[in-house]
Amino acid sequence: MNAPNHHPADETLGRFAAGAIEAGPRLVVATHLAGCPQCRARIRSFESAGGVLLDSMEPATLRADAFARTLAQVEAPAPATIVPAARDAAMPAPLRYYDLPKWRAVAPGVRWRRVVLPEAPDANVIMLKVGAGQRMPNHGHTGVEYTQVIAGGYTDAFGHYVAGDCIEMDEDVEHIPLADRDGDCVVLAALEGPLRLQGWIARLFQQFIGI
Ligand SMILES: [Zn+2]
Repeated sequence: MNAPNHHPADETLGRFAAGAIEAGPRLVVATHLAGCPQCRARIRSFESAGGVLLDSMEPATLRADAFARTLAQVEAPAPATIVPAARDAAMPAPLRYYDLPKWRAVAPGVRWRRVVLPEAPDANVIMLKVGAGQRMPNHGHTGVEYTQVIAGGYTDAFGHYVAGDCIEMDEDVEHIPLADRDGDCVVLAALEGPLRLQGWIARLFQQFIGI
């Protein structure tokens, strides 16, 4: 596996720029880009590299103006897919434009809510709020999990992550995140791929929305 980093992988940024990433991970990466000049510059560097990256991708997924459109969307999300007014100004863009339901308790010290994407209602996107010093359930993944830390921080066997960090976790990895002791940890997480009835996020969906 690739060791989790604090930013999306280059391959992920490339897919994002090319529009070749699913809606859930796309929102996680877009939320990261909104607060990470380093990754926005990385995407621009792909563009200035003269299409080397683009050449390695599926032609059908590419459009000549993909990069420009992507950066424009990060800075001003497309009005056709989201509500026009900020719903929760405390959330980072573009997440603040989505209708976020109330938090629901799922375990002691752990609350969650599903983020419904109007552009992809079936996308597996959730937010978790884990109380200070609380552990999240031990879990593996049935697909690559993309996590953006919105507030607070957590530690697992691979490192310590704080607000603004983006973590990609391969599907064969199990980890036990522990929230920092100085406050709630809030994360946005998306799974790539169709919903599979395995894994802890899938169990959340089964339990709470009856899939
Ligand atoms: Zn970054």
